[in-house]
Amino acid sequence: MSLRGNINSTGMFILASMVFSFLFNSAFGYGPAVAYSFFTFILTLTFRNEIVYFSAIILGAVIAFLYCPVGLTFGPPDLNAMTSVAYTDKAETLEFLMSISVWKWLIAVSILFSAASCCLLRKKTTFVLPRILSLLSIICFFSIPIKAAYQESQFSLLDSHYPPIRFVSDARNAYNQVNADKAFYQHNMKIPDDWGDDIHGGNYNTVVIIIGESVRRDFMSAYGFPINDTSFMQAIPGIIFTNYISSGPATVLSLTHSLYRFKNGKIEYNNSIVRLLSKRGYHTNWISNQGIYGGADSPVSLAGKQADEFHFVKNGSSNKFLYSPDEKMLPLVSEALNRKGKKAIFIHLMGSHPMACVRTSGQYDTFFRSKEESCYVQSIKNTDALLSHVYGMLGQNSQSWAMMYFADHGLRVVDKGTNEERQQHSDRYQNDYDVPLFVTTSGSKQSEKITAPRSGFDLIPLITQLVGINETSTDVQCNLYSEEVCRKERLVLKKDGTRVPYNALPREEALY
Ligand SMILES: [Zn+2]
Repeated sequence: MSLRGNINSTGMFILASMVFSFLFNSAFGYGPAVAYSFFTFILTLTFRNEIVYFSAIILGAVIAFLYCPVGLTFGPPDLNAMTSVAYTDKAETLEFLMSISVWKWLIAVSILFSAASCCLLRKKTTFVLPRILSLLSIICFFSIPIKAAYQESQFSLLDSHYPPIRFVSDARNAYNQVNADKAFYQHNMKIPDDWGDDIHGGNYNTVVIIIGESVRRDFMSAYGFPINDTSFMQAIPGIIFTNYISSGPATVLSLTHSLYRFKNGKIEYNNSIVRLLSKRGYHTNWISNQGIYGGADSPVSLAGKQADEFHFVKNGSSNKFLYSPDEKMLPLVSEALNRKGKKAIFIHLMGSHPMACVRTSGQYDTFFRSKEESCYVQSIKNTDALLSHVYGMLGQNSQSWAMMYFADHGLRVVDKGTNEERQQHSDRYQNDYDVPLFVTTSGSKQSEKITAPRSGFDLIPLITQLVGINETSTDVQCNLYSEEVCRKERLVLKKDGTRVPYNALPREEALY
């Protein structure tokens, strides 16, 4: 090979190595790691043995490629990501992968492409850097554990801030935490509840609690959205809460802090609202269109399993049911309503969960900003129609009933103003927590609004006050069905489980 050809191959090899090092280090979700990219670049150029070189590059590229789309969307593996992985079925994983934007997939593919280029060009050049430089890189990667070893005589490679090692460490910690949590609440489930034994009270024969999914109230016409998508909610007598917020930004975080008693900073998995109603003489029934999540039980489905009867409509072990409309639950709801005696029925919707076009099978009546947004609006409209159905059945079956609808959390609009505009889980804005709460009973005479601030942390007292049952351990000294302000400050959970004041969060820029 001519000298010129050799220089060109070497130049290309160096360039490909630079690109690979940068993409590889940035793929794990810790942001663009410029310094670590430089040292990775130096290190790869010191490898003399081809087999070692190929193995390292290919292994690194495959791991970075697999995590890159997730890393660029949600960041490094944390407790929240691992919880989602542990409780998500195949169909949901597929939906999730489909919801990641194309350019992130292109970056992921570029990692493989740059790695392949490095390997091919490596064969055409003899360029290597002195071995001593590899030592310099390694010292840089492990500077933090080395410092710790020096100061505290403790050495752990996993303390390194080098992205691939940090990734392994974070994933391992989150995985262990999820398993510990699972064991913890399964143990707690077996503990009997502490609810008082008063079986008196209860103003209604039938109570229906409908748990919505991923609904931002500013996308509902009942709350001022310009497209009419909640005609039922607006037409019938009842109470619309205009300032109710969810406790968390995602299903499991939010519902565990709403459906179970939360005391002294701890969730009591043995004390669910389901068991409380059961103890007050209601036959409880849980009907869910959210998967039971394969073998692993999420803490939300555990609340469902505390009911006297439960049905999980969507089969979590199959990915055929990408489109699983909530109406599939209606025959079960009808059956539950036909049961004689006092009864409480929980209905857990799939609602407006991303991706919205999967929820509506790609259908929508009115276009709004993008296809996915239009489907999102349609999914809200479909939920409103479902509420209307349940309401109709209630009127036929019972003279004395109460119905509540709320959503577990909101979402954030991403890729604004593009064809790809859609909604994604988020804990950044107030809007991510702004959800609907609507209550109607057999005694409702007119449409009312309650503007006082209310929170998902008070869902249990909201239900007990509605139903008219006492439970001293959850009573708030305040009428939640009035304009009284019951809490000085409302807290919300961030995705890592920390609590921050709702008022400290910014508002998302208005869309209309
Ligand atoms: Zn949710």
